[in-house]
Amino acid sequence: MIRLLDASTVGQIAAGEVVERPLSVVKELVENALDAGATRIAVAIARGGLEAVDVADDGAGIAPQDMRLAFARHATSKLARADDLTHIGTLGFRGEGLASIAAIAHVRLISRRAQSEIGYAVDAHELLVGEPEPIAAPLGTRVVVRELFGNVPVRREYVRGPAAEFARISTFLATLALAYPGVTFSLSHDARPTFVFSAASGLAQRLAHVFGPVPARALIELGAGEPASDGLPRVRGYVSAPGVDRGDRRMQLLFINGRLLRSTLLAGAWSAGYATFALANRQPFGVLFVELAPEHVDPNVHPTKSDVRLRHPEAVHDAVRRAIVATLARDAAARMRDALAIAPPGVSAYRGAPAALGDVGETTLADGFAWNGTAAGSAPCAAPAPAGPAELRILAQLDETFVLATDGRALVLVDQHAAHERVAYEAIASRALRGDTASEPLLIPYVVELDPDDALRFEHSRASLAEAGFEAEPFGERVYRVVATPAGYGARAFDMRAYIAGLGDDVPGLDARERVWASLACHSVVRAGDELEHAEMTALLARLVRCDNPMHCPHGRPTIVRIEADAIARMFRRT
Ligand code: ADP
Ligand code: MG
Repeated sequence: MIRLLDASTVGQIAAGEVVERPLSVVKELVENALDAGATRIAVAIARGGLEAVDVADDGAGIAPQDMRLAFARHATSKLARADDLTHIGTLGFRGEGLASIAAIAHVRLISRRAQSEIGYAVDAHELLVGEPEPIAAPLGTRVVVRELFGNVPVRREYVRGPAAEFARISTFLATLALAYPGVTFSLSHDARPTFVFSAASGLAQRLAHVFGPVPARALIELGAGEPASDGLPRVRGYVSAPGVDRGDRRMQLLFINGRLLRSTLLAGAWSAGYATFALANRQPFGVLFVELAPEHVDPNVHPTKSDVRLRHPEAVHDAVRRAIVATLARDAAARMRDALAIAPPGVSAYRGAPAALGDVGETTLADGFAWNGTAAGSAPCAAPAPAGPAELRILAQLDETFVLATDGRALVLVDQHAAHERVAYEAIASRALRGDTASEPLLIPYVVELDPDDALRFEHSRASLAEAGFEAEPFGERVYRVVATPAGYGARAFDMRAYIAGLGDDVPGLDARERVWASLACHSVVRAGDELEHAEMTALLARLVRCDNPMHCPHGRPTIVRIEADAIARMFRRT
């Protein structure tokens, strides 16, 4: 028998799409506060939100005669006609937030507008919406939601414990706050304050909260890029420096027109932007704010509005990639300049202030990045800053051993093996120390037999090797089977005997564990005699100058040597 469902069941079904868990309530209420132009939003949660979600703002408020209507489904002040759906400039527009929440909880709405001396309160639950009653209230709106899912026991079963639900709320709110630095946000749980992000303290505090204080320091602000012209996406944000990365994409945060979206939407653009900088299986992190003309974004895709349809996804993808490439190239050039100012002992020191180089026809570092992994001619914003930093130009590879470069003042020689060793060592060590190692199982494990001395030395180093992602297991007496290598290690075969010989090297300043990593780095990188492509040389130098200690390999040998033009002049007896 077919029956029409009663109105309260219909309401609960519809609410199910919007309100999945306590976080959904917070999201709807905070979006309403932002749409109302609030400059302060205070969120108080009790027992993970199941007992209460309380969101207070200082926004425009709701007129008393509109308060009951606000609870009607499809009632909104944000759209006037269907046409408005093509250019949505607010976070909400479906008019079902408050209706959905009231369908599955007890709601009290209190609001006062600037033109009124007094506020009004309305209580709503399921289909019952009370009359506005006068009440003393601060300017703005406060919504208190109690007994969430009290009338939908099945929903309660999907909700986790208060701590887990609160964690979601806290992560969401801190992340959302990144896009609204002018708004003060506060959050508390069971009356204990969790955070206060004041508008005055700016973005730095929010970045440190979301990414962690140490990774946040490695964020680079995206360059201003090209001025936003009509219809073109504008991209702002912060991205991680190459070499500081994560194993997953979860921290690639994305806002489009102030809306926090699935991070994977532009995952390909992130990867393309980092193409020449990143290690395999490692992911950059950061936050992108993309702004588009509203008619180019359709947020009316999903009831929770956490997805959008883009009119020109390729244009957005391209703008993001170009912004990242330009920023990393600029940053690498600056790093290079700093690194080159510290000459190793015995080599004449860098002197004098950097001067503009003028237009030299060779490939610049910035070009090198743009060239690999991006369409040719697509890097107009990768041009050096007007101040004219002394950029390093890669000239050639010498004897398949050295990279030759110049900053216009000196000939710069880089030992490709020592440089790569330094890069690999710092990557291995920093990940092992963070406990954030990714290893990659070998498709075909290989087996080595060692003589008794070597077997003993190898046995001592196995735990530290495993910390670096390198796994070898005993496979008979003095026989080991190599089953996994550090992620990004590539197919390069590991020379176990040379590695063990390297363990014996006495390296001043390194402890036993670091010696293992140094030897691993030494035997996992390009060697003298390997031919390198231009892009590989560029990427190698870009990563070298990112290192904490770029001037020496872990064994203490120099990585970079400068020969100043005046020293060359003396060779030609020109002084
Ligand atoms: P929507 O946000 O999609 O319009 P809601 O059900 O969330 O739908 O809200 C309905 C209406 O109530 C809004 O259009 C707005 O006019 C009003 N409203 C809700 N919350 C607030 C608030 N915090 N401040 C001012 N007005 C609000
Ligand atoms: Mg809303």
